[in-house]
Amino acid sequence: MPSLAPVDLLIVGGGINGVGIARDAAGRGLSVLLVERGDFAGATSSASSKLIHGGLRYLEFGEFRLVREALIEREVLMRMAPHLIHPTEFVLPHDRSLRPRWMLRLGLVLYDHLGGRKILPASRRIDPRRDALGAPLRPDVAAAFVYSDCQTDDARLVIANARDAARRGARLLRDTEFVSAHRAGAFWRAELRTSAGVRSEVEARGLVNAGGPWAMEIARRAGAAHGRATLRLVKGSHIVVPKLYDGAQAYMLQNDDRRIVFVLPFELDFTLIGTTEVPFEGDPAEVACTDEEAAYLCGAVSRWFARAVSPSAIRWRYAGVRPLYEDHAKSASAVTRDYVLLRDGEPPAAPMLSVLGGKITTFRRLAEHALERLELPGTGEPWTVAAKLPGGLPAGGSMETAAAALRVAHPWLDPVIADQLIRHYGSEAAAVLGDATRLADLGQAFGAGLTAREVDWLRREEWAQSVDDILWRRTKLGLRLTSAERELLREYLCRAAN
Ligand SMILES: Cc1cc2nc3c(=O)[nH]c(=O)nc-3n(C[C@H](O)[C@H](O)[C@H](O)COP(=O)(O)OP(=O)(O)OC[C@H]3O[C@@H](n4cnc5c(N)ncnc54)[C@H](O)[C@@H]3O)c2cc1C
Repeated sequence: MPSLAPVDLLIVGGGINGVGIARDAAGRGLSVLLVERGDFAGATSSASSKLIHGGLRYLEFGEFRLVREALIEREVLMRMAPHLIHPTEFVLPHDRSLRPRWMLRLGLVLYDHLGGRKILPASRRIDPRRDALGAPLRPDVAAAFVYSDCQTDDARLVIANARDAARRGARLLRDTEFVSAHRAGAFWRAELRTSAGVRSEVEARGLVNAGGPWAMEIARRAGAAHGRATLRLVKGSHIVVPKLYDGAQAYMLQNDDRRIVFVLPFELDFTLIGTTEVPFEGDPAEVACTDEEAAYLCGAVSRWFARAVSPSAIRWRYAGVRPLYEDHAKSASAVTRDYVLLRDGEPPAAPMLSVLGGKITTFRRLAEHALERLELPGTGEPWTVAAKLPGGLPAGGSMETAAAALRVAHPWLDPVIADQLIRHYGSEAAAVLGDATRLADLGQAFGAGLTAREVDWLRREEWAQSVDDILWRRTKLGLRLTSAERELLREYLCRAAN
């Protein structure tokens, strides 16, 4: 079996936690190999509610450590990738049948103060009948609060981290499965297999298991003592419908079952609604949003909004499985959302660290904690708190000024494409256009502003291979392309691969 070059750290899993750890470790001078058996962000990390948030409702379950860390991270991440992380106002309507108003007010005061907020505004109370933010709500909703959190593009956040890790010397292999590993003294010897069936071996001083819902299976494949610790798998589904209201605000709706459902502005012309919490057994790769869940989500919105939402309006639906640490809580809502790092192997044995649970929001701090726990000799100091991700706009730069500058530099560029490129690539938008000096230089147009030039960038710089990689993870243009246009893209990708 061929051997790959030995590394300090082998990371299994190309979701947000795996790539976050890879980036941090590479920046600290460790040699890193990350293997992902499918596409980066192909599982949970592209199926989230896409919030960078403290998690207001977790206060109810006493998760103060998690909420504080996540609240602090919001502003760190806003500075790190302003093109991918946007502040959003959340409207929280209230009526007497639900949690008492004093409880919401208390929660919001805590939320305002727990995380040392500097950029985001404090919460406030509004009269939704008089305030424009209340316009989409039923006219009899007489009270609401407004607080701030952030929205992100989860899959693009993963790719930005993966690219930064690669720039700093990490090697990232997609379509490569971790098969097994055993200790050989102070090293791990791992076996890998590509999706084409090619096997190889690699030696590593440390092993990180960031396999999300598959973390326990990976731990078992490495014979880790904690391979018996359990994960609680909880499915969450989302639906996307044509835009339900004007404005950039989001809504946090309390449901009669005491759960909450978010209504979020999405991809300019759409509204994202989620999520559900359904105990899950079976293969996480097969997870899907059922009609029952879709109806539940429509019902939750229709309870509060003036205009009812019907399942017939759904344009896209997706589901993911939360890989939560099993704390034996009674309900799926109450299981801890905090992460747990389980270590196997004390020196001189090579260490293995399994990541259980966690949020997109906390990936950067999780990576710092993981490297601390691994204690690999030669690990440099933490550095990610003030470092930008690829595409991160310069301090003080806004998306609008960046889009305007791109249009000045490329006056022939359609303003819609210019805005789209800035939203996807931030300060790297000009690099995506490369030496193009006229529209025709961008090559074949696939619809919705997607051109061969952008597709080539995604293949070259972002590991994209398939139509789904491009239309549902690197971008969300799947919402806009017709089936004929998707076929054109598929044909282009086939030609490019040969
Ligand atoms: C419905 C839902 C809503 C959520 N909303 C939010 C939110 O709004 N904000 C927030 O902060 N968090 C949210 N989360 C939580 C967040 O999405 C997850 O905690 C996070 O994405 C987990 O990332 P991960 O890298 O650990 O796992 P994953 O993204 O699942 O990555 C694990 C990877 O490991 C790979 N893998 C598995 N086995 C192998 C193997 N043998 N070899 C190689 N690769 C392997 C898989 O293919 C997968 O890509 C939400 C989660 C869900 C499900």
